[in-house]
Amino acid sequence: MLKGRIAIVTGGTKGIGKGIADALAKDHAKVVVCSRHKEKTKHYFIKCDASNFRETQNLVRETIKKFKKIDILVNNAGIYPFKNLLEMSEADWDKLIAIDLKSVFNCTKAVLPFMAKQKYGKIVNITSIAGHEVGFPGLTHYCAAKAGIVGFTKAAALELAQYKINVNAVAPGVILTPGVKEGTSKEQIDTLIRTIPEKRAGKPADIAATVVFLTSDLSEYITGQTIVVDGGFTNQ
Ligand code: NAP
Repeated sequence: MLKGRIAIVTGGTKGIGKGIADALAKDHAKVVVCSRHKEKTKHYFIKCDASNFRETQNLVRETIKKFKKIDILVNNAGIYPFKNLLEMSEADWDKLIAIDLKSVFNCTKAVLPFMAKQKYGKIVNITSIAGHEVGFPGLTHYCAAKAGIVGFTKAAALELAQYKINVNAVAPGVILTPGVKEGTSKEQIDTLIRTIPEKRAGKPADIAATVVFLTSDLSEYITGQTIVVDGGFTNQ
């Protein structure tokens, strides 16, 4: 389905981003992944902090130099450090908003001239059930950023439809990734899993399958939407 497509996945070296990059490549797209730290990856790696406007311009410049075009952007890079409002500093807030929300603006701005010119593009933003569907204590900054992504997705979809660029979002529930395992105890994860109708945590592949659909031409008439992939967690 994606043969001949060139994709960028931010934060594509681990967790959900890696799952997305692998799935796009399995569907025959050529995939560029970026992260702040160099990791072993089978995809074309470019070091880039997605919260840094200049570095995202370079990410796209390097991608164009190597592959001549960009068809797909997956804005996946994100962090979710728990901190209650009482302890949260201005620096904590600014860092999270820059990585989880401003990165989406940065990367979208960087790819737009190329996608608009070729009159084709698929942008998928990874938000979360946090912010979009429910609040999570300790994650006010994260919920604000992720809700912001949903608003950005709706408005960008309207602006960019004239260039045949689809902009959608995916809101994962609890997905077992290095980031989640690092920040949450096994007991906390088990407690969460008991509340999920499917009685299991999600896998990166569950999110990747939805992203492949949204980056393929099967979803040509879908834009501005946020698709929840959470095993039924927020339906209750
Ligand atoms: P993860 O396991 O911690 O992996 C995050 C990836 O993003 C890593 O490759 C990391 O590499 C990269 N990254 C972080 N900050 C970056 C930056 N400033 N610039 C470029 N790359 C950056 O996280 P994950 O659980 O897979 O989460 C991925 C996305 O899904 C995030 O947006 C998260 O909010 C969202 N999400 C996750 C869950 C879940 O349950 N896991 C649920 C809902 C939404 P470096 O550290 O080397 O930069």
